[in-house]
Amino acid sequence: MANKITAIRGMNDIYATDAEAFDFLISNAEAVMQQYGYHSIRLPIVEKTELFARSIGEVTDIVEKEMYTFADRNGDSLTLRPEGTAGCVRAVIENGLTHNQVQKLYYTGPMFRYERPQKGRYRQFHQFGVEVFGLADAQIDAELIVLSARLWEQIGLDNLELQINSLGSIEARAAYRDILVNYLSQYQDRLDEDSLRRLHTNPLRILDSKNPEMADIIAKAPKLIEHLDEASQAHFAEVKAHLDDCGIEYVVNPNLVRGLDYYNRTVFEWVTTELGAQGTVCAGGRYDGLIEQIGGKAAPAVGFAMGIERLAALLLDKNLVPAQRQADLFVVLFGEQVTRPGMVLAESLRDAFPHANVQMNIGGGSVKSQFKKADKSGAALAIVLGDQEVAQRVAAVKPLRDDSPQETVAWDDLVEFIGTKLN
Ligand code: ATP
Ligand code: MG
Repeated sequence: MANKITAIRGMNDIYATDAEAFDFLISNAEAVMQQYGYHSIRLPIVEKTELFARSIGEVTDIVEKEMYTFADRNGDSLTLRPEGTAGCVRAVIENGLTHNQVQKLYYTGPMFRYERPQKGRYRQFHQFGVEVFGLADAQIDAELIVLSARLWEQIGLDNLELQINSLGSIEARAAYRDILVNYLSQYQDRLDEDSLRRLHTNPLRILDSKNPEMADIIAKAPKLIEHLDEASQAHFAEVKAHLDDCGIEYVVNPNLVRGLDYYNRTVFEWVTTELGAQGTVCAGGRYDGLIEQIGGKAAPAVGFAMGIERLAALLLDKNLVPAQRQADLFVVLFGEQVTRPGMVLAESLRDAFPHANVQMNIGGGSVKSQFKKADKSGAALAIVLGDQEVAQRVAAVKPLRDDSPQETVAWDDLVEFIGTKLN
């Protein structure tokens, strides 16, 4: 036997109940998006490397060490998208979708980051992302949070904590950055390696450190939220007021800074304590400067992305994924001359009952084994064709879920008869 070819580490095949959980989550998310009048957008998985370098920020984990970057046959540097926002912004600029227009968009698909694979962290993972362009009001920040809360309710997740913060304006953040560097510089000898490296490149990220030895320094650090500009303060107050009005509970987490450079004002995360270290299942915020930064005419923007693997894991842990749909009708075929009329019969049932799940036995087998399959399929009725039935142009209809008797029905009357049996 030839050597087995394996998948790439951190890139998983998703099947069986995992795939069911993905589908359940995505179809519910799409339904919520429809409910709020958002539109689908489909974007390339590969973009020019420069797009991510310019949007996510040169000194972020993603750009420094997590991107799958390669030269194509022309020698152009391309990257498998590590997240969806940059490509979405590129697309709306390129297609002129933000000229005096509001866009409310959603997308889903794989993202790629070269991280250490572990529970809830993979190299190919999937996001469901939502982006809104052209609205500066706090009301839209709140709408995004409220609609995500509606999704959790819809799928039965009732234990997620909402953390929010405001990063203020770009200017306020720059001023705060100096204050923070000043404060942290006193502790140079106690900062860990990551933090030392970030001290002069991306000091806000130090606040996001998960190292317990840094916790004390971080807890006592000056808070960005106390250095917000007035307009950002008012904006944040308005977001909170909308959340209060809509009955959405939240915790203000002053150390929530997010990993990407492009955020300003509102940032938020939905967090669970039930998945171990990888607890953030949905994260987002406002990024008013990004469109201009990648070559468009300035327009406000806000969005979020859900981590589908993490949410699917929660749904499965809590048994919230509904069972796969069962069959309604199962066509049993035994004999020499049954496959061709059997196929036509099954198709006529699918024509007549477009919402029914109609399964047909393929590959022969004893009547007994076919009835076993029919029973397992969950079908209410078995429609049985043998050579004798075919010769007489009838089918036997056998109820599988109660003791009512089997009946023989002419092909011409079959649809009507079955219609009375299916509810
Ligand atoms: P983390 O702090 O967990 O690394 P992040 O801040 O890098 O997350 P975002 O870029 O905000 O993540 O992506 C949004 C969501 O996508 C995350 O909250 C998470 O649910 C999911 N996610 C991010 N990276 C991965 C990954 N490598 N594997 C699985 N899911 C991921
Ligand atoms: Mg990360």
